[in-house]
Order: sequence, then structure tokens, then C-alpha cells
Amino acid sequence: MNSIAERIKEVRNEIAQVCSAHKRSAHSVQLIAVSKTKPAADIVAAYNAGQRDFGENYVQEAIAKIVQLSDYPITWHFIGPIQSNKTRDIAQHFDWVHSIDREKIARRLAQQRSDELAPLNVLIQINIDDETSKAGVAPAQMLELAAVISELPQLRLRGLMTIPTAQTDPSATSESFAAMQRLFSELKAQYQQVDTLSMGMSADWPYAVAQGATMIRIGTSLFGARLPKNEQTGDLT
Ligand SMILES: *Cc1c(COP(=O)(O)O)cnc(C)c1O
Repeated sequence: MNSIAERIKEVRNEIAQVCSAHKRSAHSVQLIAVSKTKPAADIVAAYNAGQRDFGENYVQEAIAKIVQLSDYPITWHFIGPIQSNKTRDIAQHFDWVHSIDREKIARRLAQQRSDELAPLNVLIQINIDDETSKAGVAPAQMLELAAVISELPQLRLRGLMTIPTAQTDPSATSESFAAMQRLFSELKAQYQQVDTLSMGMSADWPYAVAQGATMIRIGTSLFGARLPKNEQTGDLT
């Protein structure tokens, strides 16, 4: 099996190839390494291979790693569902939050972000395929939530995130990614600081890059498969 350093290099090469095929600069797509359920040692291995941005989903697990790795200049992205009793921990430890999907969560994160820290970079999560089981606002509610966020000085609205319906044929996600690109243009037209479209995971990221993704969130292709949640140890809430 290849090492994490080798996989980082491979994925970066693939990103450069896909970007070039779509006449985009390789620098226009940022790789977020999704390290949920993986040990701090794996994060260090990726860091030593040049990776600086990491994504985590479970607050307690993430904070343990963030504290352990506090000497490393890592940019931490919270990408999981947000419970309101976890907003303080998220506001205090993360640099980015990709999964804002309601006004209450935005207001709590803003209140709990300390003044000494830079504003928290936030993305609105869009439920692009209208799935009842999935977090995110309906496309029609995007501008309403953006208006609330833009009034909160402790938050900086940077763009949108989505997780489309998983498809057996990943090319079937293209339409959802294209719909996200249209929403992103609409949001950018109103807010000049908006510059981030977070979409694409291990299985489907080339289709997301084809539709303008500026951040892709990759776990499995870098760190290997994860155990199902109930087989993991530790606090994963
Ligand atoms: C786990 C996760 C990822 C990474 O998924 P892989 O398929 O392992 O690349 C990306 N985004 C979110 C929101 C996730 O929860």
C-alpha cells in the first residue's frame, strides 16, 4: 500500500491534470484532507508532505487532535453537521466552517468567536438534491441566510458547500455540481468577498472541478477507508 505522502502527491498530480483539462490553474483548487477518524500521526504524515488544510467532522475527536497538533500551522475546517451545543468548541478551535445551515447556528458561532481571533470563514451548506435526510438549506433560502451571516462581523461569508446524493455512476453528480455553480455565481454577484465553492469528495471530485469547485474535500483517497462509525473508539460526537 502506498504511503500517505505518496497518495498526497498522486492526488495533487491528478488535480493538476483535471484542472488542465478544464483550462483551470492547478492553484485554483484547494485540497482539504479529511482526517476524521484518523490518528494525529496520519495528519503529521500529510503535513510533512506539504498538506496544510485538514477537515474534521466530529467535534470532540477533532479538538483532541487540534490541541495535540497546536505547534503545527494547520488550517482546520469543520465540515460535519453542527449541533447547537457544540458551537462554542467549533468557534474557538476552527478556521473554517463549511456546514452552516441555519440562522441559529450562524448567530451562536458569531457570539462565541473570541475577539482575539480572526473572523471565522464560513460556507453555507446547500441541500442541492433536496434530500430529506441531508443537512443544508434549500437553494431558494440561500440569500436569506447569506444576509444574516453578512451582518455578523465575527463571521466572514466565503461561499457555498454541498454533498450531492451519492451515485453509483459518479458522473451523475455533474448536474448537481452545475446547479451549485449557478448558485455560487448568484451569491458572488451580491457579496464581493465570496470566493469559495466547496464540493467534491474521493469518488466524484473531478466532476466537481469540472463545474468550478475551488475546494475539494478528500478523505479515503489520502488516508484509506474508514471503519464504520460504531466500530470506532473514542468520542465521535
Ligand atoms: C467524510 C467527508 C468527506 C470525505 O469523504 P471521502 O469520500 O472519504 O473522500 C468530505 N466531505 C464531507 C462533508 C465528509 O463528511
